Order: sequence, then structure tokens, then C-alpha cells
Amino acid sequence: MRILIIEDEAKVVSFVKEGLEEHGFEVDFANEGLAGERKIAENVYDLVVLDIILPDINGFELCKRIKDVRPNLPVLMLTALGTTDDKLTGFDSGTDDYLVKPFEFKELVARIRALLKRSSGVAQPLSKLVVADLELDLKTKLAKRGNKTIELTAKEYALLEFLMKNVNTVVSRIEIAENVWDIGFDTGTNTIDVYINILRKKVDHGFDTKLIHTKIGMGYILVS
Ligand code: CA
Repeated sequence: MRILIIEDEAKVVSFVKEGLEEHGFEVDFANEGLAGERKIAENVYDLVVLDIILPDINGFELCKRIKDVRPNLPVLMLTALGTTDDKLTGFDSGTDDYLVKPFEFKELVARIRALLKRSSGVAQPLSKLVVADLELDLKTKLAKRGNKTIELTAKEYALLEFLMKNVNTVVSRIEIAENVWDIGFDTGTNTIDVYINILRKKVDHGFDTKLIHTKIGMGYILVS
């Protein structure tokens, strides 16, 4: 498995490169965005670790350009920009995952492995969905956030499952209606918004980090 790191901080490059090599990955790097873009055009990589603040081009912009030419190449943004807005901008620009510095190396490796597994199409036995500290057990149908158990009705469960399966992706009301309710659902009603609000109360209320976000005019997104 070959990974490209695009990062201008030499310390981060050597830390990540050495660590990943110890885990058996082949690692290449570029200190500037455009050099990284050239490398992607010329070589075959399995994954890109991308910084956002680069000397020549912004990582968000670079991510869009990478996804234009290599839509299936997984990109993991590794950045000091840690606000929810930064993450949303990252996911809007097409990144597959987003890890905020400082980070634990084992978390980086776990996320890289998860992305590689996803992109290689290996079916994972799915018994549990996990997004940040939110867990949904697909067998017992129970949700948990941190230590708090969340009771869900059948529809709330179906909606949360759909949002979690589409983590970091904006889903429109129509997509929700088609997947969670039957297609004949009357989109003129505000049923979906009502259910989203119920889920918000159950999932996000009392937690500093909100997972469910509204994208005005587009739909909803559950952010990891
Ligand atoms: Ca940087």
C-alpha cells in the first residue's frame, strides 16, 4: 500500500512517514501542494494524507483537484484547523476523512486502514456503526453516545442508521424520504425535520460536540 503525504512541516512529515513505514506502508511525500498534485498525476497511490495550510495552494482546493482526476483515491485531511466549519469545508471539497492535529498516531493508522478497506471494496461484517463517540448496534438496535444509552423508536433508529451510514455526506430530505420512509412520502410535510429535531435532542443535547448539522437548502449531515 502506497501513501502520499502532502505536508509542509518537515517534523510532521518525518513523524508520519516513519510511523507509517513501521506499519508496513510505502510512503512518499511532497512539501508543497502543486508538487503533490504532480506526483499524483505521475504515480499510483492508494491514499493521500493532505495538510490544508500549504505554502502554494490551499488543501481544500487541492482536494477538489485531486478528486476531479482521481475520484476513487481516498484523501485524509490532517490539519490543525479543527472547527466544525473547517471539517464541513473539507468534506465539501471531497475529503474522505478529517483528523485534527495533534492526533494520536494509532488513530491515524486506524483511519487509514478503514479508508483503504472501504476503497478496496472488502466487505466488512457490519454489526455496529460508530461515528465519533456515537455508536449504533445494528443487532440490538440500541444507540449509545459516550456512556449515555439512547432509546430510539423504530423510525428514529432508521433515520439515525441512514445518517450514520452516510457519515460526512450531505443527505437531502428526498434521499431521507426514499430511504427511511416509503417513496410515497409527502415531502410537503415537515415530518423529516421533526424527526431530525427529536434525534438532535437525543444525540446532541448535553454534548459540546454536535454531530447532526443542517445544510440550508440541501439537507442534513452527520459529521464525525
Ligand atoms: Ca501546513
